[in-house]
Amino acid sequence: MQSIDKFNFAGKKAFVRVDFNVPLDENFNITDDTRMRAALPTLKKILRDNGSIIIGSHLGRPKGVTDKYSLKHILPHLSELLGVDVQFANDCVGQDAAVKAAALQPGEVLLLENLRFYAEEEGKPRGLADDATDEEKKAAKAAVKESQKEFTKTLASYADCYVNDAFGTAHRAHASTALIADYFDADHKMFGYLMEKEVKAVQRVMNDIKRPFTAIMGGSKVSTKIEIIENLLTKVDNLIIAGGMTYTFTKAQGGKVGNSLCEDDKLDLALDIIKKAKDNNVNLVLAVDAKIADAFSNDANTKVVKVNEIPDGWEGLDIGPESEKLFADVIKGSKTILWNGPTGVFEFDNFSHGSRTVGEAIAEATQQGAFSLVGGGDSVACVNKFGLADKVSYVSTGGGALLEAIEGKVLPGIAAVEKE
Ligand code: AMP
Repeated sequence: MQSIDKFNFAGKKAFVRVDFNVPLDENFNITDDTRMRAALPTLKKILRDNGSIIIGSHLGRPKGVTDKYSLKHILPHLSELLGVDVQFANDCVGQDAAVKAAALQPGEVLLLENLRFYAEEEGKPRGLADDATDEEKKAAKAAVKESQKEFTKTLASYADCYVNDAFGTAHRAHASTALIADYFDADHKMFGYLMEKEVKAVQRVMNDIKRPFTAIMGGSKVSTKIEIIENLLTKVDNLIIAGGMTYTFTKAQGGKVGNSLCEDDKLDLALDIIKKAKDNNVNLVLAVDAKIADAFSNDANTKVVKVNEIPDGWEGLDIGPESEKLFADVIKGSKTILWNGPTGVFEFDNFSHGSRTVGEAIAEATQQGAFSLVGGGDSVACVNKFGLADKVSYVSTGGGALLEAIEGKVLPGIAAVEKE
């Protein structure tokens, strides 16, 4: 595998897979350009070297060509960010893209139309009838896998080298995120700077661990986090469980949870996690008190009660002050910290205090030398809401990709570039 820093792009055409899947309002204005800015160091390095760039990305989840998901909407802003008039190919494969890519001069940039306008990008058949038989489904899948080869080869043919800077889609074995890498030898494929940073951050919490290592798992449901929790139980010293999943653990141990979020079919699973933690010598830290509400609303009446004594008609929407202290003390004594998921309904200001306290404790530990990684949609929103993003070591841009990496899975987008 090549290193972007060492590679000289002078006179070379680079196919750069980025994640420009940015949110747009109804007038197609970009409402948050974080993902575009995140790719700038890579794109600027190539331009500085006097190379040229063919940019590939997806936008949204189109089921075919859809104007709403056209990457032309982001073209003016991309030109502005790069300080270069970016060209646009109105199709990611086909005549227009081939001609423009071939004519690209050093210092020029070509943005290809949304890769997901083609089923071949994801390699999944589209437009199958609801009543399609298993055989028809199988045949459709085989057909798209076959045409995917030609699609991937065409994308690869535009460039001399491949740069993957799309960590957000690294968990997908798609044409432009993984399969394309096979068309380049090890000296001509590499991670972009963003991807490099993400991979390093994940390595620090998965392999290069300074102890004690504490993971804080919050969010709504235990069922969506089970694989991560099981993997973490083999790695961490402390596992803090917070958020809505608290109450599944409370009920499993015989507590009263009132109307709190609770997965009744996961009670055995919760007990199993408690046992595994004990077997692995992991300090499982559960909330001891809860801030409860008589409605799912910021303006509901509230009380603080023991976590296992929540009356009917009331629901736990955040941890209470004793739990805050308990969690903060564990966090402040840690050298490696992973945070995924809020401790409560942080979107409501009256139930955001627990998440803020956890964020601040992580910031303090970081200041004292701990390495902290925050990732997975809502925890990123949390650190941004509390102004803590630059006080933690690393905020990941990848939601699903980060979670799969923490689950211990090999990400196809990473493996494809690393392959000799
Ligand atoms: P997740 O996507 O699983 O990380 O869950 C994040 C969501 O969990 C956020 O929108 C929170 O509002 C929600 N959440 C956290 N704690 C609770 C709770 N105690 N009751 C209901 N929802 C919660």
